[in-house]
Amino acid sequence: MRLSFHGADRDVTGSCHLIECAGRRMLIDCGMFQGGRELAEENAADFGFDPAAIDTVLLTHAHLDHCGRLPLLVKRGFRGEIIATAATRELARLVLLDSARLAEEDAEIEARRSRRRGARPAAPLYTLVDAMAALDGFGRTAVYGVPLPLGPGLRVSFHDAGHILGSASVLFEIAEAERTRRVLYSGDLGNAGRPILRDPAPPAADIVVMESTYGDRRHRSVRDSVAELCQAINATLARGGNVVIPTFALERTQEILFHLRAATGDGRLPAQLPVFLDSPMAISATEVYRRHPECYDAETAELFRNGEDPLRPAGLRLVRETAGSMALNRIEGGAVIMAGSGMCTGGRIRHHLRHNLWREAASIVFVGFAAHGTLARRIIDGAQRVTIYGEELPVRAQVHTINGFSAHADQAELLAWHARVGGRERTILVHGEATAMDRLAGLLAPLPVSTPEIGSHLEL
Ligand code: ZN
Repeated sequence: MRLSFHGADRDVTGSCHLIECAGRRMLIDCGMFQGGRELAEENAADFGFDPAAIDTVLLTHAHLDHCGRLPLLVKRGFRGEIIATAATRELARLVLLDSARLAEEDAEIEARRSRRRGARPAAPLYTLVDAMAALDGFGRTAVYGVPLPLGPGLRVSFHDAGHILGSASVLFEIAEAERTRRVLYSGDLGNAGRPILRDPAPPAADIVVMESTYGDRRHRSVRDSVAELCQAINATLARGGNVVIPTFALERTQEILFHLRAATGDGRLPAQLPVFLDSPMAISATEVYRRHPECYDAETAELFRNGEDPLRPAGLRLVRETAGSMALNRIEGGAVIMAGSGMCTGGRIRHHLRHNLWREAASIVFVGFAAHGTLARRIIDGAQRVTIYGEELPVRAQVHTINGFSAHADQAELLAWHARVGGRERTILVHGEATAMDRLAGLLAPLPVSTPEIGSHLEL
């Protein structure tokens, strides 16, 4: 058996791992490298293997850094089957079509610049047509816990990862002469005890390839984080300002909606608090959540069964059209406005920041990760002034950063997950920055642990 590593190795984006066993070649995820334009070259580079020689792709979940290069894989010759859970398949459709649209738009802007310089314009990484071809490659649907045969002596099964809707860890069972070897890829792992989704439920395995994003960190509890969110909203309403929440369309939006509904339902927040979800992508993703009760935990399933919608606070208003989004600019106070992008690198959130950042009564509440160099990070780090659409604005709003809503397992959860899996033959850490990975590797010792570099491989 040969495992090779082609993305998110000693790094956190571009997940792409290859396993060759039982005469077949299978890819686990084929994600985009993210973090700005400088990664365009990395995304367009050679995969490090021949796409036409891959038999199957197992997709752990629909985040762009796990599925974003699938259209490129198909464009370069992959003709096999893509297997994912039903929810992942639906979310991946949203994510890939949006990604292709953005790639085409970016290429169009670049082409205009190139023409002005007299240079030859570069083609987009992929087009809508490529994305649609990749979507056609989705074959069998994985059901949690039900093995699918991939060939003689080889089967695969998907198991709850608790990260986003449809997310899964993927187990390979490989029949060898004297035993069956079990290889588990964690995918991204969520924290146990978060709302909506079931907790991670990993099977036992001999070899485990696991994520290590927060291998060096502990999160604050969800309960404390919700209390902090409610406090920030109530204080802002008392001052007469708006609460602006930059959110990611998948998972974070739905989780915040869940908490807002619970808090407006039991009096922690005003019952009719106006909540504007100003993001077509997040609205569509929330609809996908409603269509997949097979992914819910017991509490959420119970609410739906009783005819309640746990993702709809009483005062929720959905804003798809641009005109509706612009109308929000006239609201000076008393509303919660959720929009993307989560790191404020683009999208409608930038308009809401422009209209609220300078108001002392307003508050900006960050509920997710913000990478270095992004507008979100500059505001979090205490910038006095920021530039949005060429206009310099003073930051007078209250800025809150609430860290407990992370969709990734923290160090304690990663260790608990690993203890259930075993991974005694070998544990391979991926999807982490070097410091987080090395810290976790230290805690797993004396078990055999590897932290492979991108482009490397292991024979096992
Ligand atoms: Zn993810």
